[in-house]
Amino acid sequence: MKKMFIAGNWKMNTTATQAKELACSISEAVKQLPDSSIQIAVCPPFTSIQSVGEAIAGSKIILGAQNCHFKDKGAFTGEISLEMLANINCKAVIIGHSERRTYFFETDSLINQKVSAALTAGFLPILCIGETLDERRANQTFEILRRQLDIGLENITLNNPDDLVIAYEPVWAIGTGIAATIEQVEEAHTWLRHYLTGRFDEIGETLAIQYGGSLTAENADDILSIADVNGGLIGGASLKADSFLSIIRFSMKYI
Ligand code: PEP
Repeated sequence: MKKMFIAGNWKMNTTATQAKELACSISEAVKQLPDSSIQIAVCPPFTSIQSVGEAIAGSKIILGAQNCHFKDKGAFTGEISLEMLANINCKAVIIGHSERRTYFFETDSLINQKVSAALTAGFLPILCIGETLDERRANQTFEILRRQLDIGLENITLNNPDDLVIAYEPVWAIGTGIAATIEQVEEAHTWLRHYLTGRFDEIGETLAIQYGGSLTAENADDILSIADVNGGLIGGASLKADSFLSIIRFSMKYI
């Protein structure tokens, strides 16, 4: 059976009021769906994470954060710890999103510290990886993915295939409206499955690999049908309950 995990990354969008409204709409719609093994998460901005948590309580939706610090507490102005997030029922965390790598200079080693801390704290880390357009044009895609995984997962051991999610997000497809082609997604996900199986043996065979990068209600059916695509990390299309729900419904076809 194919695993499916659909996660919405709201980025720096939605006021607390808007976030609560969006969360309520998604939560109500998800409650109407037939029971299935599909996993769903929403990752709102920190200012609304607690109220979104309350709005989705009682639904199967998991609360996720868009970032975290790797230390429990201390003098790290502006940062949020996993301990703080756990206390408000947050269960998943996006780590190493390309926007954090690009605009906040996050390195693979820092990302590795965050993945390790998230696993220790019992969180589900969603580790984002992906090449830029220049790297793809220079035929460096798999070299980049290998480096991001080699360092991002250094010293990481897994006991369970549900403990980690990899999100393949070609940087050039994020927020641009130009998703990767079916062939490009298929090629990358097949490569990633091979890498993960080599790295984690049987556990790697069933780790979820999400696709991210302009995934919409229009292209979701085709992309989610690909064998090693186990759902999506969705930015723009997760900000409207209707489009997010359409993507969830398409994913249910392939479990
Ligand atoms: C993302 O935020 O990870 C993302 C893939 O954004 P978008 O769906 O808007 O391209």
